[in-house]
Amino acid sequence: MRIKDWYKENKENFSLSELNFIFESFGVNFPCLDLNKILNKKQVDKLKKIKSERLKSIPLALSLGKEKFLDRTFNVSSQTLLPRPETELLTEKTAQIIKEKKFKTVLDLGCGSGCIGISLERMFPGKINVHLSDISKEALAVAVANTVNLKSKAQAVLSDLFSAFGPDSFDLVVTNLPYVKSSQIKGSLLYEPKIALDGGEDGLFFIEKIINQAPRYLKESGYLIMEFGFRQKKRVENFIKTANCYIIREWIKDYAGIWRGVVLENG
Ligand code: GLN
Repeated sequence: MRIKDWYKENKENFSLSELNFIFESFGVNFPCLDLNKILNKKQVDKLKKIKSERLKSIPLALSLGKEKFLDRTFNVSSQTLLPRPETELLTEKTAQIIKEKKFKTVLDLGCGSGCIGISLERMFPGKINVHLSDISKEALAVAVANTVNLKSKAQAVLSDLFSAFGPDSFDLVVTNLPYVKSSQIKGSLLYEPKIALDGGEDGLFFIEKIINQAPRYLKESGYLIMEFGFRQKKRVENFIKTANCYIIREWIKDYAGIWRGVVLENG
């Protein structure tokens, strides 16, 4: 079968950027490729699997075992949250702050595939010290594989929230902890690990905990940058006020204009 034939049959099922990503793993660039190239049996089988999984709404990143995040490709698995574009925004904002404040010690708490922390470490190679932590051994193994593949010096640590760390350890903590309401975990989210998504009945179980616990682990005037979910801003703001030890530096909107993150200074 030629690439062209497969494309004709399947173009309705995938976007151009998805096709590009799929064919990249065959070492070809879509669409600027030789459409007459013959696919070998292994490639045809892989494409069959990808298509049948697409028809079952299994996320493409899971079918491919990888996802793009900023300008790098990360391994992902059914044990890691799949990186999302809104988290790219949060990571870029975090990078800006690291640069401005000349921060050195950074924790990506609940790192999953490690996409936030590894991206940051790669943006400031040799300049910052990044820890990646997660409660899931399986997720951490994926993060470690990503540090190796991407030549990152970020260090992975198994930790239940801050349990592995001592007080006053970090200039900055960035985190995308589970914040989906338990009742909202359905559809394609069912293919991702519950432990990475489930924020309890109101989705805010971990968010509240982190807002309360982070100051102990942050250095003086350290920053906490966290992602949260649709319609959670008001409640997040209340937790911040109750904690009574932060200056709100900035609220972050995602590409869809939805409030999605906050930048806090411990002060
Ligand atoms: N952004 C994901 C979603 O809305 C959730 C990620 C998370 O719980 N931290 O599907």
